[in-house]
Parts: sequence; C-alpha cells; structure tokens
Amino acid sequence: MIHRKSARDLDRMAAAGTIVAETLALLAESARPGMSTLDLDQIAEGHIRASGGVPTFKGYRGFPGSICASPNTMIVHGIPSDEVVLADGDILSIDVGVTRQGFVGDSAVTIAIGDVPERTKQLLRTCQASLHAAVEACQVGGRLGDIGAAVQGVVEANGFAVVRDLVGHGVGRSMHEDPQVKNYGQAGTGAELKAGMTLAIEPMITDGSYEIHIDDDGWSIFTVDDSLAAHFEHTVAITEEGPRVLTLVHGDSIVNQPI
Ligand code: MG
Ligand code: MG
Repeated sequence: MIHRKSARDLDRMAAAGTIVAETLALLAESARPGMSTLDLDQIAEGHIRASGGVPTFKGYRGFPGSICASPNTMIVHGIPSDEVVLADGDILSIDVGVTRQGFVGDSAVTIAIGDVPERTKQLLRTCQASLHAAVEACQVGGRLGDIGAAVQGVVEANGFAVVRDLVGHGVGRSMHEDPQVKNYGQAGTGAELKAGMTLAIEPMITDGSYEIHIDDDGWSIFTVDDSLAAHFEHTVAITEEGPRVLTLVHGDSIVNQPI
C-alpha cells in the first residue's frame, strides 16, 4: 500500500531531510585520507542528534552504524569501521537517514577522496545526473516506470551499468514503504504517480557488471567483478507543482555538486 502524505507531512519530511543534507555536506567536507569510516559515522551521529534528529539506520535490523559508508567496489550498506581507512584515490558512498517528528529523510552521495581518474569522475557524475533525470520524471500522472527509464537512459548512454537487484523505495513514517522504485524499466508502465507520494530514488551504478555479491557480514554489497560503484539518492515528493526534493539544505537546489 502506498501512503500519500499531506502538505504538513511533507514539511516534516523536509525538516528531517534538511538534517540529512547538512550531515552529508559535513561528511563530504570532513572526509580525507587517513580518516576511518567510523570517524565519519561519529561526526554524523553527533550532528544528527545535535539537530534534534535520530539516525534512522542505527539499530535497523541490527545495523550498528548511523550511516552506511561503502568504499570503491562496495555498492551500498557498508558498516562504519575503524579498520576502513580512506586513502587518496578512493571513492566513498555515504548514505544517511534521519528520523524527526515521526518522519524519515533518506539521501546518499558518492564522493572522491583526493584525486581520482577521469573515468571515475564520470561514473560519479553519471550517477548524479541519472538521479536528477529521475527527479524530473516525478510528475503527477506519470508512471513509476518513467523513473527507472530515466535512470537507465542516462546511465547506459554513458557506458555504465544499472544494478538490478537493489531498488529505491517509498519513504515516510517508515524508512521503507511501498512502492519499490527500480532504476531500470519502461516509461509509461507501472503504478501511476500521484500527488503526496514520497519516494527515495537511489540509482546504484557500476563501471562493469551489474551483478552483486553480498559479503559474509550480511550487509556489505559489492560488485561481483570488482568494478567501481556509485550511489546517489534523494527523497522526493510528487506534488501538483512538480517534484519537491526533500533532502536539501534550505534554499538549495539539485545543482550538480562539484565532483
Ligand atoms: Mg539511503
Ligand atoms: Mg534509501
């Protein structure tokens, strides 16, 4: 069942989403070679709680971290650890969820640590561009398949692959609600997009195979062929006035962040 939200609900989600956006910006600023992903987790938890939010991921099905931190060939769901130390040339996907006033915001970015090759920058830019195309597809009267087709179109035109086995999701009072939001598919198919629907749209793409491998820790998900992976995510509301991105710092827009 798809829960549609009132205008007041959307404002609450945006308040949670603002904390998510601030946290991601803080982590992107802070991350540098020599830091561990546990260091980043502690910075995130501090900011989230100081802002009146709760880190949604912490304790979710036993997940120990406040963020997911997934370097290089890891696609998503990395457990923050003092044994994972960032090095120049790494990329890192950081995923943050915040609950505030009973509503969740969920967003992710992939950042470069120091200098990375041009092809890697392209991977990141393409993933972000595919998310922006997907946001534009969030129009009343559209279909869920418009979103997946938008992502897939951008990603494959740039020579990268869309992960099939992981999807975005509805989000609201719970982190994971209906519907599933695939990152591939046919425009004009699937459920109708209606005002008040709120979706976490999260393309996950690779520079190789789209097949995945789940680590023995039960969380970390890697590319099966050790290709690099990128992940960007926003929480988006469908409104009569067009898509409203809820995971932004106030006054910001989804302009390309410099990569
Ligand atoms: Mg997320
Ligand atoms: Mg999500």
